[in-house]
Amino acid sequence: MSDYRLLRQANQADGTAASVIEALQTRASLNQQTLSFEFFPPKDDEAAAALWKHYETLIEAEPDFVSVTYGAGGSSRETSLAVVDRMAKDVLTVGHLTCVGATAESSRETIKHFEQAGVSSILALRGDPPLNDPQVLAVGEMKTALDLVQLAKSVSSLEIGVAAFPEVHPESPSMQHDAEVLRLKQDAGATFAMTQLFFSVEAYLRLVSAAESAGSVMPIVPGLMPISNAAKVLRMAQMSGADVPRELLEKLENASESDARVIGMDYSVRLANDLLQAGAPGLHIFTLNYSKAALEVARGCGLA
Ligand code: FAD
Repeated sequence: MSDYRLLRQANQADGTAASVIEALQTRASLNQQTLSFEFFPPKDDEAAAALWKHYETLIEAEPDFVSVTYGAGGSSRETSLAVVDRMAKDVLTVGHLTCVGATAESSRETIKHFEQAGVSSILALRGDPPLNDPQVLAVGEMKTALDLVQLAKSVSSLEIGVAAFPEVHPESPSMQHDAEVLRLKQDAGATFAMTQLFFSVEAYLRLVSAAESAGSVMPIVPGLMPISNAAKVLRMAQMSGADVPRELLEKLENASESDARVIGMDYSVRLANDLLQAGAPGLHIFTLNYSKAALEVARGCGLA
C-alpha cells in the first residue's frame, strides 16, 4: 500500500477531512488552501489505463479531495460511478450528479449508491442537454440543479456542492441573477461551490463579490484548467463562454505548439498564484485525466 493510502487511512481514523467544508476549514486554520483534482470517466480500456496511471501520480501530491464528472461528453453513469467507487477508497471524493435524463427516482438511487460507496459529498449540477436532444431538460422531471440540491437534502445527509460561473452562466441574464441562484441553492442546503474554467482573477473576484452581495456565504473554490494544449483549452473556453484575455489569445495563436505550451502553462501558474493570493480558499484543477500539467500548476503555486 502506498504511503498516501496509509496516510489517508490514518487521517480517516483521526476523523479529519470527512467533507470538503472540513478540508477547507482545516486548511484555512493553518493559513493554507486546499488542492483538488477533477477527473472524468474513461471511454474505453485504453483511456481507463491512462486515467489510473495519471491518478496514481496525482494522488501522491496528497490532494484534499478529488471529483469525478457525470454524464459530461456523453459518458455513462455506470463508468462514472465505478470511478467514484474506486477513488473513494483512497481519497475524499466528490461525485458529480446531473439532471439530464434523470428522474427523481434515478437520482435517489445514485445518491444511495454514493452513500454506500463511502462518498460524503456530491456536486449537484444541471448538466447540459445533448445537441441532438435539446428538450430533454424541459420534459424531464429534474430541471435545474436546485431540484437536485433539494432532493439530495431531503433524502440524504450528503454534503452538497454546486457550480458557479465567474464569466456568468451562458443562459443567465446577469452575474446578479447567477448570484441569486447561488443563494437559493445555499438556502436549499448547498454548502460550497466550485467554478467553471475562466482566465482572469478579476472574473473570480467579481463572482465572489456578487455572491456575497446576494447573501451567499458558501466558499467558492476556483476551477483551473491548465493551458497545456492551447487548441483544446481554447475550444473548451469557447464552449463554456469563458473570455480568454486578448493578449494571451494572440500570443497562443502566433506560437508554435511547444511555445504555446510554455506560454499557456506560465499563464496558468501565474493565475493559480494570483487566485490564491487574492483569497481563493483552494484550487480545483481540471486534469483532463493527465497528471503532468496539473502537477506543474499545483507545484508552481506551492500546493503540492
Ligand atoms: P443550474 O443551476 O440549473 O443553472 C442553469 C441556468 O438556469 C443558469 O442560467 C441559472 O442562472 C438558471 N437557473 C437555475 N436555477 C434557477 C432558478 N431557480 N431561477 C431562475 N434561474 C435559474 N456538466 C455535466 O454534464 N457533468 C458534470 O460532471 C459537470 N461538472 C461540472 C463541474 C463544474 C465545477 C462546473 C462549473 C460545471 C460542470 N458541468 C458539468 C457543467 C454544468 O452542468 C453546466 O455548466 C450547466 O449549464 C449549468 O449547470 P448548473 O448546475 O449551474 O445549472
